[in-house]
Amino acid sequence: MSLEFNEDLGQPIISPTFAPQDAGEIGLRPKLLSDYTGQEKAKANLSVYIEAARLRNEPLDHTLLYGPPGLGKTTLAGVIANEMGVNIRITSGPAIEKPGDLAALLTNLNPGDILFIDEIHRLNRVVEEILYPAMEDFAIDIIVGKGPSANSIRLDLPKFTLVGATTRAGQLSAPLRDRFGVSLRLELYTPEELARIVTRSATILGMDIDPKGAMEIATRSRGTPRIANRFLRRVRDFACVLGDGVITKEAADLALTRLEVDALGLDNIDRRMLTAIIQNYGGGPVGLETLAATIGEEAITLEDVYEPYLMQLGFLTRTPRGRCVTRLAYDHLHLQSPEKTFFDI
Ligand code: ADP
Repeated sequence: MSLEFNEDLGQPIISPTFAPQDAGEIGLRPKLLSDYTGQEKAKANLSVYIEAARLRNEPLDHTLLYGPPGLGKTTLAGVIANEMGVNIRITSGPAIEKPGDLAALLTNLNPGDILFIDEIHRLNRVVEEILYPAMEDFAIDIIVGKGPSANSIRLDLPKFTLVGATTRAGQLSAPLRDRFGVSLRLELYTPEELARIVTRSATILGMDIDPKGAMEIATRSRGTPRIANRFLRRVRDFACVLGDGVITKEAADLALTRLEVDALGLDNIDRRMLTAIIQNYGGGPVGLETLAATIGEEAITLEDVYEPYLMQLGFLTRTPRGRCVTRLAYDHLHLQSPEKTFFDI
């Protein structure tokens, strides 16, 4: 069976990471907390911190956003900037190669501005060390000259807010993690929340969508707004060519089935992963590397792209001895579950 790929990057259609075909999503980003659907816990805390910073007339504390890709970290950073009424500069860990690159970014900020660093766990160590005094004392030390005549000059910075985003909070060094006053974890969205996001996006894009159509896209979008918005565009194509352009449950089902995304949003790799655990390893436990080698995928892709959603569905669990499938996975794949699974032993 062939797998539907994003034309541009050769990534699966269900990949939550940004692909060139997602360029249209930027116009769909909510601007204010009131437009930002879901993440109620993070939003409730954040609105208090924003209000308090506004009352004190101070910049917001440095904030770390973490969670799987495509859940709205960049969007939330933009929302924070709008709510605080300040500018935002957007960059990413791998893009800041030298200390000078970071110094240039920091010295160009205005008081209160937000510097957003995506994939902050990928900053190199030398650059990261410049960030410590910048975050703590709003100053950087610059070395002028070379050899014995080299001098260190301390440069004051405007008070700014660093918003860092990461998919792998565990990879952040302790000194960097400790310098964030606020740390917010973003969770996978519920189908109801995704249906609201899809309906909002369809309205902005002038598409006709009925509630059941929105719900069908939502339940198959793996808890991820980026995937939901991508599916919405694909379903619209099918609805226009094969129907009357209205996004109905039938149009969504037809399009997503053609894209080989099943009723719960699983694709070929999800199914191969679960089937391999069941058929080759008796339901688990099996180590991630072994599993990846068995199905010919990279361990990191399985961990970042596939596992979070399979775990949210309750199909897969991580144990100290490896990955195990649950009875729910057997049922979904229409496979006979054994008398006893790993969990009953
Ligand atoms: P991340 O930075 O976590 O990878 P993004 O902020 O780029 O994710 O979000 C991906 C897309 O999903 C955004 O462009 C936006 O259109 C949509 N999106 C994300 N979160 C929300 C939300 N809470 N409400 C509405 N749309 C959202």
